[in-house]
Amino acid sequence: MAINNSPKERVAIVGAGIVGLAHAWSAAERGHSVTLFERSSKASGASIRNFGMIWVIGQRDDAQDTALTARERWLRASQEAGIWVQPCGSIHLAHCPDEWEVIQEFHESHRSSHRGTTLGLLTRDEVLNRTPAANPAGLLGGLWSSTECCVDPTSAIRAMPTWLQSKYGVDVRYSTAVVHVEPGKLVAGCGAVHSFDRIVICSGDDLATLKPEVYREQSIRRCKLHMMRTITQPDDWRIGPHLASGLTLRHYPNFQHCASLRSLIQRVASQTPELDRFGIHVMASQNHLGQVVLGDSHQYDDEVEPFDESEIDRLIERELRKILVLPTWEMQSRWHGIYAKYTQDIAFEREPEPRVHVCTGLGGNGMTLSLGVAERAWNRWETNDA
Ligand SMILES: Cc1cc2nc3c(=O)[nH]c(=O)nc-3n(C[C@H](O)[C@H](O)[C@H](O)COP(=O)(O)OP(=O)(O)OC[C@H]3O[C@@H](n4cnc5c(N)ncnc54)[C@H](O)[C@@H]3O)c2cc1C
Repeated sequence: MAINNSPKERVAIVGAGIVGLAHAWSAAERGHSVTLFERSSKASGASIRNFGMIWVIGQRDDAQDTALTARERWLRASQEAGIWVQPCGSIHLAHCPDEWEVIQEFHESHRSSHRGTTLGLLTRDEVLNRTPAANPAGLLGGLWSSTECCVDPTSAIRAMPTWLQSKYGVDVRYSTAVVHVEPGKLVAGCGAVHSFDRIVICSGDDLATLKPEVYREQSIRRCKLHMMRTITQPDDWRIGPHLASGLTLRHYPNFQHCASLRSLIQRVASQTPELDRFGIHVMASQNHLGQVVLGDSHQYDDEVEPFDESEIDRLIERELRKILVLPTWEMQSRWHGIYAKYTQDIAFEREPEPRVHVCTGLGGNGMTLSLGVAERAWNRWETNDA
């Protein structure tokens, strides 16, 4: 963090998901007086519904620095706030020759350029030595990356406000919806009017309540994802690193430059079109309780239905069983999450009115990037004010 000589401000943050918490932390650390408004009695949006993967490997090249800054801050949160953060790394598993080809091409193109990352090609036996969860049937090898971390989203997101309150005096107001924002002024649902020097709206996929005109005509999509979680695995069994299937190579932008990806995409489209229909690729992480978090699917915009189709869960589980072996597949819970995704950049950041900011649209990368995106924003605002 840069040394800060700018005047201290009264700052309001709307939304206690990871984006709002990231802004609250960055602002409070710079000595500002922060009030955090959350309409629910506890955070229950996308930020508690995810895998908890700090997924540096999947980020585009121009987001790597932001992801690494965020990773450092998660590790700090672990030390200072006692939040469980495990630097576990990740393996993309290859069970098909075209997946193995993409992994090798990616490794070849990135091995010298990735800052602070250890990337490595693993043989089949090396994969099996690093994780007991990879399905040996048809396994060809894997791509190891050292940078990924695991957090338990629910406990982390609910613990952070308490820590911000006790360490920095952040005023956390749950069950307080914000219904109007204008420069210098914020109105809560109960009618209370508050004055602030700067207001940051981090309302996740709620693009309608505050400043809807800002989101109109912009490339922001809503996306619904299906997830599930096993019961605690027996006998302290641990998965080791996060695991992703070859299908995941289709999903994250970092792999898009690989020419060999085209034949993988074509193979999936022709042999298993149902996976494209529901945007399915599969991944697994394991929390501190020993539960394995599994997913996911992607349905955009008009496809965001309130009802969850059991067919989607069946397909996710079918694909997971091709790549994983777990001691137990008994599910403890199933849910869906919805996030907002800005398609033009890593985050949708605007200042529609003086010192009124909007930050959302981090898509499937909010846990990975938010703590870095907020730092970047506060450094920018400080420079502008200097
Ligand atoms: C199933 C799933 C899996 C994912 N997996 C990962 C992963 O492993 N790694 C990763 O990096 N990212 C992952 N993501 C993405 C990540 O979870 C999101 O990018 C991130 O949580 C978005 O955070 P947010 O703060 O914008 O939204 P939210 O967490 O939804 O928070 C917004 C908050 O604002 C509050 N709010 C809204 N309007 C108001 C108002 N008017 N007044 C007061 N409060 C208001 C809401 O109640 C809510 O608590 C996943 C997402 C999903 C859904």
